[in-house]
Amino acid sequence: MKILISDAFDPSLSERLTKFGEVFDDKGRLSEAEAVLVRSKTKCTKEYIDSAPDLKLIIRGGVGIDNIDVEYAKSKGIEVRNTPTASSVAVAEVAMALMLAVPNRLPFGHEGMVKGDWRKKQIKRTELFKKTLGLIGIGRIATEVAIRASAFGMKVIAYDKYVDSSQHAEMATLDEVIAGADYISLHTPLTDETKGMLNKDTIAKMKDGAVIINTGRGKCVVEEDVAAALESGKLSGYGTDVWYSDPPENTPISSAPNTVMLPHIGASSKENLLRIGDICVEIFEEFTAK
Ligand code: NAD
Repeated sequence: MKILISDAFDPSLSERLTKFGEVFDDKGRLSEAEAVLVRSKTKCTKEYIDSAPDLKLIIRGGVGIDNIDVEYAKSKGIEVRNTPTASSVAVAEVAMALMLAVPNRLPFGHEGMVKGDWRKKQIKRTELFKKTLGLIGIGRIATEVAIRASAFGMKVIAYDKYVDSSQHAEMATLDEVIAGADYISLHTPLTDETKGMLNKDTIAKMKDGAVIINTGRGKCVVEEDVAAALESGKLSGYGTDVWYSDPPENTPISSAPNTVMLPHIGASSKENLLRIGDICVEIFEEFTAK
């Protein structure tokens, strides 16, 4: 089997896959590939798929498969697999990191220290303790966030259109989460229903000074509306790992106040890349045993 590793995986994966065939990372050889491994960067569009006539398997190392035209791949008899269980802890830790960085103004304090500017008086911290965290989506990642937030003494409520109970959060309606939370953390996939779900209308119903944390998908929020709410002070912070595109182009978030911005690193921990690699090997074992 000819296997193209198109994005960044753990360096050991290439060697581990050699038992299934020839492994290469030269994207110019896409036309020869029978299996392609992607993360977020490679977009498996119709054109991409048509450029690989021998393709039988696409593996997305990660959770969301919105960078793959799954319908079209399936219509061509190509199997599409992902590694949904691997990344939960890695992404939850980044959500917690953002949730701590925003109210403690870590980038602002750090930048001051680098410049020799002692910003002690300018930083008015707030605590997570006794605040309400509202989760939108209570799947694998959100559950790990709920466990960690509870350990910080937060009250955790959650809305999920398709899940009605959780051991780790009190279930609520979307309106209750929007209106009742001090921190709103997004954990849904990007779908027609979730696209732009945090916008000027939903933000208007939030508590004054609410904070949005986004490790779900950039397009689940309307960035212009988030930026305007940060400018007006309606939102006191936005911590995000995800963008309309990777990297973002002309995003209003980059010039808005009180943001903490990361370059989509939620799944990129060393440990997670190893877990993703393990699951990729299992997928190849299953696929080649058929
Ligand atoms: P999951 O499938 O376990 O959980 C997603 C939850 O969202 C489900 O419980 C589902 O019922 C709920 N949901 C779907 N549509 C909804 C709607 N309209 N309203 C409310 N809830 C809805 O997935 P997960 O592993 O927890 O991952 C969640 C998302 O996190 C992924 O889809 C992906 O977009 C994102 N993600 C980001 C990174 C990163 O690097 N930042 C890494 C992995 C995943």
